[in-house]
Amino acid sequence: MFRISQFLKEIDQPTPAGPRRNPPGPVVIWNLVRRCNLTCKHCYSISADKDFPGELSTEQVYTVMDDLKGFRVPVLILSGGEPLLRPDIFEIARRAKAMGFYVALSSNGTLIDADNIVAIAAIGFDYVGISLDGMAATHDKFRRKAGAFDASLSALRLCRQRNIKVGVRYTMTEDNAQDLPALLQLVADEGIDKFYFSHLNYAGRGNKHRADDARHASTRAAMDLLFDSCLASLGRGEAKEFVTGNNDADGVYLLHWIATRFPDKTAHIRAKLQQWGGNASGVNVANIDNLGNVHPDTMWWHETLGNVQERPFSAIWSDLSNPLMAGLRQHPRPLEGRCGACRYRDICNGSSRVRAQQVTGNPWAEDPGCYLLDPEIGVAADDYGRRVRTTPWIKLEAVA
Ligand code: SF4
Repeated sequence: MFRISQFLKEIDQPTPAGPRRNPPGPVVIWNLVRRCNLTCKHCYSISADKDFPGELSTEQVYTVMDDLKGFRVPVLILSGGEPLLRPDIFEIARRAKAMGFYVALSSNGTLIDADNIVAIAAIGFDYVGISLDGMAATHDKFRRKAGAFDASLSALRLCRQRNIKVGVRYTMTEDNAQDLPALLQLVADEGIDKFYFSHLNYAGRGNKHRADDARHASTRAAMDLLFDSCLASLGRGEAKEFVTGNNDADGVYLLHWIATRFPDKTAHIRAKLQQWGGNASGVNVANIDNLGNVHPDTMWWHETLGNVQERPFSAIWSDLSNPLMAGLRQHPRPLEGRCGACRYRDICNGSSRVRAQQVTGNPWAEDPGCYLLDPEIGVAADDYGRRVRTTPWIKLEAVA
C-alpha cells in the first residue's frame, strides 16, 4: 500500500528518514469465506452466492489465529467473498480484537444495515473498508445489482454515525475512471476517513477483463487528481487518508510530481520513499484464502505456498524453498527488462510481479502496468520500445 497522505505531510512536517524496516510479521489479508451476495466484474476471488466446500471451521480459524499471533502478525484484514456472510464472523473478529490484532473488515457494504450496525460497532473494528466502483449508475452496473450503491453508501453513513473509521475502496478501469472526481467529492462531503485507490491487477475476474485496464495516461491523470485532492485536504487540516494499491510505481510518479511542485523537498521525499521501499508482496503482505491456502498476496491465488490445515502459517511463510518466495524476499529482487534497468527500483521494488507473470510468464519481467515514461525512470528512450501516450483520454478535475 502506498500512503500518499503520509508523504505529502512530509512537505510541511518533515520527519527524519531512516533505513527500511520490515514489521515483525506480515499483514494478513484473510479471505474467510468465498460466498458473496454480488458477482462483481473485477472480483479476484470469483465468488458466487453459494457455499464453497472445504472452508475453515471456527476452531480451525482460531488455531490459525493463535499461530499468527505467535508469529507477530500485527494486522488481520478480514475479507471474502463477503465476510459478513460467514455466520461466525463476529465471533472471529471479537476474538481477534481480544488477542490484540489490528482488525479491519473488507466488505461490499450491502449487508451492513440498521439491524447489525450495533453489533459491528461493539466489536471495535479498527477499520471498515467498503468498495465503491463509482457513482450510483456505474457502481450498480459493475456490481450487477440495482440499489447496491445506495446500500453501500448507507453502510458508510452508519459506520460514520457510530464513529467507526471507514474508507472507500475504488478500483479504476476505463469504464469507471470518469466517476473518480465525483467519488472524491462524495468522500469529502460524507466525511469519510480514507480513500483507497486500487489499480486494476490481473487476477480472478480482473484477468479476464485485461483489455478494459485503464490506459497509462488516464492513470497519470488519476494520480495527479489524487495528489491534488490529498494536498487540498491536508491544507484544510483534515486527517483524511489517501492511499493507493497494486502499483508501486506510484511512489516514483509522486517523486516526479514533488520535483515539479516542491523542488526543494525532492531529496527528503526521495529518502522517505526509499525508506518505504515499494512492493511488499510475499514480504510484509500475506494472504490466506477461504480454503486455508497461503499466497504471497491476494493477486497470487494461482501460486500456493502451503495450506494452514496441513502446516502452520508461520512454517509456510518462513519456508523459502519456493522460488517465487525466494525471489520476492531477495533484496534487491532479480528484476529484468525495463524494471531491471530502472533507476528507481529502490523506491518501487518492481511493482506488481503478478502482472509481469500474467503477461509474460516470467515473474521477474518488467511490470506492464508501469505508467512512467522512459526518461522518468532513467532508461534510454529506445531501450525497450515502450511509449506512454501523453494525451490523457479523459480530463479529470481536482476536487475543490
Ligand atoms: S520500471 Fe519497474 S521498477 Fe521502475 S518504476 Fe516502473 S514498475 Fe517500478
